Amino acid sequence: MSEIIHIGDLSIAVTRKDIKNVHLSVHPPEGRVTLSAPTETRLEVARAYAITRLSWIRDQQEKLRNQARETPREFIERESHYLWGRRRLLTVIERDTKPCVTVDHKRITMSVRPGSNHAKRASIIHEWHKSLLHEFIPTLISKWEPKLGVLVAAYFLQRMKTKWGSCNHKAGHIRLNTELVKKPKDLIEYVVVHEMLHLIEPTHSDRFISLLTENFPTWREARSELNELPLSAEEWRE
Ligand SMILES: [Zn+2]
Repeated sequence: MSEIIHIGDLSIAVTRKDIKNVHLSVHPPEGRVTLSAPTETRLEVARAYAITRLSWIRDQQEKLRNQARETPREFIERESHYLWGRRRLLTVIERDTKPCVTVDHKRITMSVRPGSNHAKRASIIHEWHKSLLHEFIPTLISKWEPKLGVLVAAYFLQRMKTKWGSCNHKAGHIRLNTELVKKPKDLIEYVVVHEMLHLIEPTHSDRFISLLTENFPTWREARSELNELPLSAEEWRE
């Protein structure tokens, strides 16, 4: 059940939940705004809070509109692609051998069969991203397992629209977004540590925050850098 707050031309869907803090979010792709509030919060209080955050909401919506203008990658010659947080230019070579991708400090070189279309090129890059992450992620997991005192039964890589990672607490699994390969390695490490800590503490409770702070003191900076895309949510502590 949700209620709607109207502020000028802005509509905010309010959901009441068994939570401690008001939580305001701006969602991609259109900039839809939602507010979760503790069950007993009065609507006027939620509205007053949303008004104080109005310029933040407008900023986030503006960012989304700008992101929406970014064209999707076409996998063509001299196009920019990010890898481990650094921009590189793509070189495409057409030759009739098994497709492959190599990288040096300036360039990503993709060899494809003549006539490979956009979808084929995208899937070659995607497989390559997965293979890079499959080399890197296990080193992070084995570094952090003894430090945190947890065991990761399995990890999975997949495309995710709105999250960098998730965790299945019961099964001991973590799931990571393949887009992470575009981010600096220290930010990927933050996501892995975050999801691994969820194996100890499933929710973002005070205990979770203190475990995170103890083990990864720069988590706030890492989170805000990552959340430049997709958008972050903001929390208000009552
Ligand atoms: Zn989390």
